[in-house]
Amino acid sequence: MDMKVLTVLGPMNAEYSNVPAPAPKGDMIKIKVMRTGICATDFAIFTGDCSFVRSGEIVYPVRFGHEFSGIVTEVGENVKDFKPGDRVYTDNGVSCGTCDACRDGRYGVCLNSRSVGTVNCWEGCFAEYMYMPERHTYHIPDGLSYEQAALIEPTSISLDAFTGVERKPGDVAVVIGTGAIGMASAWLAKYFGYEKVIVVGRSAPKLDVARKIGADDVISSREVDPVEAVMAVTNGKGADLVIETSGDRSALVQGINFTAKFGHISALSFYEYELNGMPIDRIVLNRITLRGGAGCFGYPQKVAKIMTEHKIDLTPVITHMVKFDDCLDFFKNEEKYHGAKVKAMVVFDD
Ligand SMILES: [Zn+2]
Ligand SMILES: [Zn+2]
Repeated sequence: MDMKVLTVLGPMNAEYSNVPAPAPKGDMIKIKVMRTGICATDFAIFTGDCSFVRSGEIVYPVRFGHEFSGIVTEVGENVKDFKPGDRVYTDNGVSCGTCDACRDGRYGVCLNSRSVGTVNCWEGCFAEYMYMPERHTYHIPDGLSYEQAALIEPTSISLDAFTGVERKPGDVAVVIGTGAIGMASAWLAKYFGYEKVIVVGRSAPKLDVARKIGADDVISSREVDPVEAVMAVTNGKGADLVIETSGDRSALVQGINFTAKFGHISALSFYEYELNGMPIDRIVLNRITLRGGAGCFGYPQKVAKIMTEHKIDLTPVITHMVKFDDCLDFFKNEEKYHGAKVKAMVVFDD
């Protein structure tokens, strides 16, 4: 049997094609894709304006797409815990399964790991079917929709913003950026009990979405100076946790300038270029901790659990639904949607 896939052949050049979709073998699971989230990284791969394309870690042609949920249709002969009809999500990194670390079950440190649809590409989910080893596949908890499950991957990146950060009563979190990672960061900050969660962004419709997923306050960086606004709202103290998700280097500098003494900044975006003009003395004087964050092995399951517990629904971040057949058009016309788009979700035929 065949399946339809979307592959990027080079910058601004992608095409649908039909490729074989054989029965899975061994520990592999064949999954019919139900929803695929479209990520900024997918656009960067499509346009070619992606640091991993420049570094040679992503090589065309790329079967891209890395945020999905689906339903099991067939399993290999060694699969134990999954059967056809099971609803599933997966890890984003696929370990080799044979190195010393993998034989120990420490898949997160496998040096031969491949990322779904991106670096050292494992065939991605702009496709009717995905293949995934059982060790990287998880059951979607009861009560979560396919849309929610497809948001687990980006939210697991947001979760890393909180790693090693001790929250004290009254702490304020400020999120810069209104993409899906920023929204999920604000949503998690509410879950973790921050006294006040503030989202800084430029687009009014996206700031409205930020309020829907729980932001207590929003700051339009088009209208006011974010540093002055955050200082005013925190009575001159600054933010205890700043989560920078915009990928704009000047926004990172602003974040440093409104971080409280002994505060933390988690940078979750790719900036694509080096940063000059870093206000290093401010970091020194205020004993600020600046750290990067990315997806970690084990985080998707934590996010799935939080989704079942959190009183606030994250799905208002899905601002656009796109049929798989219309997906390429959507990529070609992204600028038409950009001003109001937080997360676009691809729907496949049942
Ligand atoms: Zn992504
Ligand atoms: Zn390995």
